[in-house]
Amino acid sequence: MKLEVKDIVYSIDSKLIVDGVSLEVEKGEFVGLVGPNGCGKSTLLKSIYRVYKPDSGAAYIDGRSIADMSSRESALEMSVMQQENNVEFDMMVYDMVNLGRFAHQKMFGGNDKIRERQIVLDAINEVGLKGYEERSFLSLSGGEKQRTLVARALVQQAELIILDEPTNHLDIGYQYQIMNILKRQGLTVFSSIHDLNVASCYCDRIILLKKGKVVDVGTPEEVFVPQKIRYLFGIDTKITVNEATGKPNIVFIPDLET
Ligand code: ADP
Ligand code: MG
Repeated sequence: MKLEVKDIVYSIDSKLIVDGVSLEVEKGEFVGLVGPNGCGKSTLLKSIYRVYKPDSGAAYIDGRSIADMSSRESALEMSVMQQENNVEFDMMVYDMVNLGRFAHQKMFGGNDKIRERQIVLDAINEVGLKGYEERSFLSLSGGEKQRTLVARALVQQAELIILDEPTNHLDIGYQYQIMNILKRQGLTVFSSIHDLNVASCYCDRIILLKKGKVVDVGTPEEVFVPQKIRYLFGIDTKITVNEATGKPNIVFIPDLET
């Protein structure tokens, strides 16, 4: 399950937001998309998973254009967890997770109900929400909501999962917990990630985005160097090795004089 993005351009009100992005995510890879606020991460991801239609360029899964797939076909190939989840009406956690099964379930009977139920319960268990099945989604804490949405993405059983800052607004424990859940599935993952140390810990490769353009691609060791972080975020850093993970640990050096 290889994701290929070829020269996607997307503009809003004739302003270029995604400026000719090409990238590849190989089967089984965990690739992070990192860049400052407003650099176009969400817009790029939306152009890949068809919330936006690119001005030019396209995204492909194993050589097939995502734009040409039916919604059921694309749901079987990729699951998506968006940044904003405006849930308009409340439902039980079980039903919210079960929504992720839509591409697998037949419209009129013929479903193996016991198996379907087990898939949903297993995912709820996987994200640590056993016992929450009948809780109202809107009554959950931010972290519980995020984990419910991760479970919904998992039951889709697609090999490729695309996420937009899945750990946003979560406390440090949940940030790592959600990333651990994603990592241990062994899926192909493409995710924008806000926190550089989280990206460093989990990603095989990282794509640096600035003003809608890819400015670098490499392993955490290759891209997380002070000069590149300064170029992207305008802050000095000291990079050490996190002894627990063996990955770069980014320590920020704020300019307290200004
Ligand atoms: P990121 O996810 O990297 O923070 P976004 O992709 O959300 O960035 O936004 C990139 C740029 O596009 C920002 O300058 C943002 O203000 C602009 N933008 C995004 N969506 C819209 C929209 N619907 N209308 C106008 N500008 C938008
Ligand atoms: Mg965003």
